[in-house]
Amino acid sequence: FSVCYRSYGVAAQQEISSDRGHAVLAPFTAARQVTDSNPLVIERSEGVYVYDSNGKKYLDSLAGLWCTSLGGHEPRLIAAATNQMNRLPFYHSFWNRITKPALELSKELLELFTPADMSKVFFTNDGSEANDTQVKLVWYYNNALGRPNKKKIIARQKAYHGSTIVAASLTGLSNLHQSFDLPVPFVLHTDCPHYWRFRNAGESEEDFATRLANNLEQLILKEGADNIAAFIAEPVMGAGGVIPPPATYFDKVQAVLKKHDILFIADEVICAFGRLGAMFGCEKYNIKPDLVTIAKALSSGYMPIGAVLMGPHIAEVVSSQSNEMGSFGHGFTYSGHPVPCAVALETLKIYKERNIVDHVKSLTPYFQEGMREAIAESPVIGEVRGTGLVMGVEFTRNKSPTDLFPASWATGTYFGNQCAEQGLLVRVSGDTIMMSPPLISTKEEIQKAGV
Ligand code: PMP
Repeated sequence: FSVCYRSYGVAAQQEISSDRGHAVLAPFTAARQVTDSNPLVIERSEGVYVYDSNGKKYLDSLAGLWCTSLGGHEPRLIAAATNQMNRLPFYHSFWNRITKPALELSKELLELFTPADMSKVFFTNDGSEANDTQVKLVWYYNNALGRPNKKKIIARQKAYHGSTIVAASLTGLSNLHQSFDLPVPFVLHTDCPHYWRFRNAGESEEDFATRLANNLEQLILKEGADNIAAFIAEPVMGAGGVIPPPATYFDKVQAVLKKHDILFIADEVICAFGRLGAMFGCEKYNIKPDLVTIAKALSSGYMPIGAVLMGPHIAEVVSSQSNEMGSFGHGFTYSGHPVPCAVALETLKIYKERNIVDHVKSLTPYFQEGMREAIAESPVIGEVRGTGLVMGVEFTRNKSPTDLFPASWATGTYFGNQCAEQGLLVRVSGDTIMMSPPLISTKEEIQKAGV
């Protein structure tokens, strides 16, 4: 990483080609950001490394897309998928039918999630579907309780919650809204809790958290608490730039939500399963959610799977309504697909056997402090932030939170490309570079990412 930032200069203004060299409409790929008309074709993976079609080796410091926590070639996950394929490659979970892996995985998840009592699981294919499901669930819940107006959802600026119409609306990144007529009108956004960027002069972290909780309450009062169903938050914001919460933030936010009878949906799609040095982000920040979204590392990214965990109060209302409101008319062909469920079960087993949380804790100093030592003095790096094995490095001028590089320089993209050239894959969002290496990384591999 440090090799790349040292080479920074006017090359950031290089001509950018808009040609695409392949037939896939590439997700999250802006033509103006493509510096090479040939896509990077990744062909094979091993441990924390991936190899492109020319045989070039890359340290995959984003774990795919924040998901391959067990690295690129875990034979036990491959065996779990193969065995399940041989036994029962598909059956659904509609009309009270279920497969054994789905049943076992739901029990395992309820046991594993200790920050609050959870009593039912709904399976999806990914995080976006799970967040859409959350909104339908809280609507269903409020309809069942005779509160038909309590429907609006509060999310946060810079949040990322997915790409389907509702999940993209919950997302608080305006560049993902403007070309799609989003957000939908029942989604509201409150402040992003990024202390470094949005603090007032002389304001402490705690005071900043108090101000944001007050603003949240003002928004609730303005809209009317009777019209607001839920608040959704990532424990540490991910794709919006890796933004850990300021001290006391979630305590204060939870007090406001409780006072106004508003549900807390914790989007743990990135944070869950050890990434922050705790099994769940809710555990780390003492969040007691009503509903939880998980995906990604649930199967170490080997198979598409997501899920919603529901607290008993939600589960009870939803499952006792079937006579009055008809069946719970929501589900996907692949909800509880046996192959991803079998892979997820094996993944959770490995996390436990390898004490993945302790391993992350042991790597954290090398990753967090090590990276800060390696690069934080640079005048083009404004902030290095993160916790556990997730990190954001933001480029600004003179270390200022407000003196940004011109957007036309595409500084973040330039660094991302430089990193890839040097054999390091990172995520770029604006002028922030993000990393979330596989949790099985060794100390040496973590240190290598910083050199
Ligand atoms: N929530 C969060 C916090 C995410 O980071 C993501 C994906 N990056 C999603 C939801 C959406 O998940 P998916 O891409 O699996 O639909």
